[in-house]
Amino acid sequence: MDIGIWALVISFMYSKSIQNLIDAFRKLPSVGQRTAERFVFYLLKSGKKEVGEITLSLKELIDNVKSCETCWDFSDHNPCAICNNKTRDQSLLCVISEPQDIPVIERTDIYNGLYHVLRGAIEPGAEEEWEKIKLKELFKKIRNKEIKEIILALNLDLSGETTMLFLEKKIKELNPEIKITRLARGLPMGSDLQYVDEITLGSAIKNRIGR
Ligand SMILES: [Zn+2]
Repeated sequence: MDIGIWALVISFMYSKSIQNLIDAFRKLPSVGQRTAERFVFYLLKSGKKEVGEITLSLKELIDNVKSCETCWDFSDHNPCAICNNKTRDQSLLCVISEPQDIPVIERTDIYNGLYHVLRGAIEPGAEEEWEKIKLKELFKKIRNKEIKEIILALNLDLSGETTMLFLEKKIKELNPEIKITRLARGLPMGSDLQYVDEITLGSAIKNRIGR
């Protein structure tokens, strides 16, 4: 290929509006250049009505959804419906990594306590970076006498394990009276809670083991 053709290839670019949206989609998790391009051209072909609906949903998301400052789930209300529900067991707290884990556990119909969402996990070897996730907020709750048991329900991968070990140590230091449990064995190693079926997860919660 001579230099002239190369110049032509690298100078090819989408129109600015198309390129901007491709760049925006590429910021989403697991979306690479090809997928971002597919999304943009799908939208261009599908027309104004469909794009309008997506635009409206995005606007509602930004306008209405906020953080519940008690459990750190996302909700239309602060505090959210679960934190506000006094019929739930206030002495039981389930610690999870992501907001998406809450509906997964709720669907098992086994758990009736409260939640705390860490919004992430500690990477192995990065324990000193624990303040990046919602741990300070959790430590405040741990000092509260009302909590009798904390269930550590993080993903069974390296960062989940690192976070659970860190938490076990911290909880024992801050309030040794709290019972610490983990989900029962039987969940596949490396598994993300969101991909575990309800029956397996339900039984892992019911048969949780003390630490
Ligand atoms: Zn909440």
